[in-house]
Amino acid sequence: MKKSYVLVLNCGSSSVKFAVIEPHSGDNILSGLVERIGSKKASMSWKYKGNKDTKDLPEIDYRSALQIVINDVLKIDDLFSYIVAVGHRVVHGGEKFTSSALIDGEILDNIRNCCHLAPLHNPANILGIEEARRSFSTLPQVAVFDTAFHQTMPAYAYIYPIPYEFYTENQVRRYGFHGTSHKYISKVAAQRLNIPLEKSAFITAHLGNGCSAAAILNGKSVDTSMGLTPLEGLMMGTRSGDIDPSIISYLVDTIGFDVHRITDILNKKSGFLGVSGVSSDSREIENGMLSGNERCKLAFEIFCYRLAKYISSLMIPLGRLDALLFTGGIGENSAHTRERTLKWLSVFGFELSSENNKNNGKNSNGVITSLSSERIAMVVPTNEELAIAREAIEFL
Ligand code: ADP
Repeated sequence: MKKSYVLVLNCGSSSVKFAVIEPHSGDNILSGLVERIGSKKASMSWKYKGNKDTKDLPEIDYRSALQIVINDVLKIDDLFSYIVAVGHRVVHGGEKFTSSALIDGEILDNIRNCCHLAPLHNPANILGIEEARRSFSTLPQVAVFDTAFHQTMPAYAYIYPIPYEFYTENQVRRYGFHGTSHKYISKVAAQRLNIPLEKSAFITAHLGNGCSAAAILNGKSVDTSMGLTPLEGLMMGTRSGDIDPSIISYLVDTIGFDVHRITDILNKKSGFLGVSGVSSDSREIENGMLSGNERCKLAFEIFCYRLAKYISSLMIPLGRLDALLFTGGIGENSAHTRERTLKWLSVFGFELSSENNKNNGKNSNGVITSLSSERIAMVVPTNEELAIAREAIEFL
């Protein structure tokens, strides 16, 4: 039987992540990244059959970067000819998209209409779609939205307590992000715990450079920490998460920065980086903390404390809990973060197994709580590329 692969494209504002996936086995055939697109330091790296390769692409523009991925990298072993569908990560689907969509002219226009909600991301996603449609004109192209999974939230969870007209006239509401990951890990956890997804109750904590938590009841998102944009909610690598909104006008008045500059600081210079002054990377924060850096220690404490508070609040819409799930680079790898967060949550009956936590749950089916713990916490590695590939293949 001829091999069939799905090409997954994740086009960020200055990077393109790409992967060729065998959707049934889940095998990652090839994966790579073009980063710092447009700058002198632009480069591409990719991995195929255990070998890694890199190439400098100074000052390459976005379209050319995509063409190199499609026309050069996919030539390796004629991978191009085995591609049967293309899955695109699209950041914002507004209220229009409640699930993935097979892309045609009308769908593309609807994605364009969401650009004002994600001005850095949706235009890049659209470029990826346009290039892939040019190169794979006969193949189905599927858009998988970060926001779609959270469209099941009830109005009381997604409407902000501000004048209602901002919602009806300006689409200001909570949308939530990382939907593909929250959905994927809740499905995997239900399988691992042997409970039907339609009767499950999970809190999911996706902790990477961006962080969000979600309450997932019977396989559907009922609340999440991110809002109109991915700035709301948890503290992150460079993003503040929740703050008093008046801080913005206070800073405008007192230090004279304009609103855009302050918003940029809240997105790019806050979180771990802002508090520690050291790094946005949680590994460096932990190293700093262990070597006695007080601000790294404080950054770590704020992160875990706020995460625990959010997790506890997400129990409200669930009413019960089958398991708390950790994923993303930090959630999957940082035993310290999980330990500190579960310590705050011990009032709810979480009791850690130090051994299983240290191993990232590898020898315990992901479970990191002790056998006597009232509640279960688990590590469930996410795989957004595979989730996108599987969504795409469903349209074939
Ligand atoms: P992205 O959101 O960009 O996909 P990732 O999910 O890869 O990011 O997560 C990146 C974060 O994961 C970084 O803060 C990094 O420090 C953290 N991380 C990765 N490995 C470890 C580890 N072994 N211990 C602690 N943190 C880790």
